[in-house]
Amino acid sequence: MSFIDQWLNDSVPALVGGQWRQGEATFAVDNPSTGETIARVAELGGSDTADAVAAAYEAGPAWRATPVKERARILRRWFELISEHADDLARLMTLEQGKPLAEAKGEVGYGASFIEFFAEEAKRMAGETLPSHGADKRILVTREPVGVVAAITPWNFPLAMITRKCAPALAAGCTVVIKPAEATPLTALAAAYLGREAGLPAGTINVVTASKPAEVGEVLTTDPRVRKVSFTGSTPVGKRLLAQCASTVKKTAMELGGNAPFIVFDDADLDAAVDGAIASKFRNAGQTCVCTNRFLVQDGVYDAFVEKLAARVQTLKVGDGLSEGSTIGPLINQAAVEKVQRHVSDAQEKGARLVCGGNAHAAGERFYTPTVLANVTTDMAVASEETFGPVAPVFRFERDDEAIAMANDTPFGLAAYFYATDYRRIWRTMEALEYGMVGVNEGLISTELAPFGGVKESGLGREGSHHGLDEFTELKYACIGGL
Ligand code: NAD
Repeated sequence: MSFIDQWLNDSVPALVGGQWRQGEATFAVDNPSTGETIARVAELGGSDTADAVAAAYEAGPAWRATPVKERARILRRWFELISEHADDLARLMTLEQGKPLAEAKGEVGYGASFIEFFAEEAKRMAGETLPSHGADKRILVTREPVGVVAAITPWNFPLAMITRKCAPALAAGCTVVIKPAEATPLTALAAAYLGREAGLPAGTINVVTASKPAEVGEVLTTDPRVRKVSFTGSTPVGKRLLAQCASTVKKTAMELGGNAPFIVFDDADLDAAVDGAIASKFRNAGQTCVCTNRFLVQDGVYDAFVEKLAARVQTLKVGDGLSEGSTIGPLINQAAVEKVQRHVSDAQEKGARLVCGGNAHAAGERFYTPTVLANVTTDMAVASEETFGPVAPVFRFERDDEAIAMANDTPFGLAAYFYATDYRRIWRTMEALEYGMVGVNEGLISTELAPFGGVKESGLGREGSHHGLDEFTELKYACIGGL
């Protein structure tokens, strides 16, 4: 029986300074498929958070002084332990988040890949010497860990959003305080538990759980000992945290919301485009930040694309993520279901044609039937708001420049996708899209090997690749004179 089985139906403590802390109260973690409580976790507040920050601060000097090969060895062991517990972690994730078990397993592999990658990458954290401004001087540039990092994460990827921040932070010699989403704290605690088992010293990794995040967030964004806040979540919360961070001029990384366009040009391979559309729109029941929010399809292939897409969408299997073969799990909560329904109703009232779906699903109150809407226009809510659900609205365009203008007509700039075959059109479109990431004839773009992040109101900073390690370091320049 793994530690995870023991946690279910029990009260799970948070992790502060190497101690498992119960707190004075607890809050419930529910299974979104059934509404049943699967466990309770510690309700921590401001003073617990200050303790976690103090522990991370105190653990900092010894951790950054630990030789990089030793830090890498511990991280590698963490990667192995997560991989060894993949089945249990995936089941836990499905229980608290709802995603189909196969997707949860995929996320465990994806989440672990950041630890594997950064354990290696930290060994290449090189400084440099530069030509100097005097014969008796030398310029030495070193890279140093930023210090204590606060990682505030969302519920849609309960493991990967944590490892994408903590692996590079710990690899660089920083210590971390994690504030996981209130809907999915168990996966975060399980990851931290395995981190401690792997040998991460007390205080280097802390998890502060809370159902009311503002008090915890206030400490993490204003305590001067926290030197970096790395946030993934919605744009409104990100803006608030950025403002709070200003008082102590912290480094920040903001991975925020999106409104991804998916353009299908008339020379596209339509079957490949439909494959990409299903992957980019319906993964995690449409609850990913890089999910397609708007399909923009050229006049000549519009009807054929809508027909092929709807045919595939109707083969998706809605159900509890633990049920064999289910490909669309529940939405995270009732408010999410209501938002999806509001977007669909608003589109229909303004003249959209419902091709399939458009209603709650019999599997339970948080399930929504995968939906395709045609004849969608830019005055509808789906054009400007992140739907975050299994709804594919299909807009029509005639000219390439019209598609680019529609795609860029949003304050967001996270991911964009397009399907085309003409190489001139591919280059022009790739360059014209105001987005941090572009999938060209590709619907799945996330990997630990590439820099993930957005422009405009989708955020600041990059996660993954060697750029993701830079984010947790500061440059120090030493002028060595009198030679
Ligand atoms: P959210 O902004 O509501 O919450 C994210 C986290 O912030 C949670 O841990 C929450 O408890 C915490 N939080 C909320 N208010 C806070 C406060 N005042 N102080 C401190 N912490 C606070 O977002 P969500 O609903 O959990 O996630 C969905 C959103 O995240 C979507 O907009 C999605 O696009 C975005 N997202 C972005 C990325 C990316 O990499 N760009 C990845 C995943 C999700």
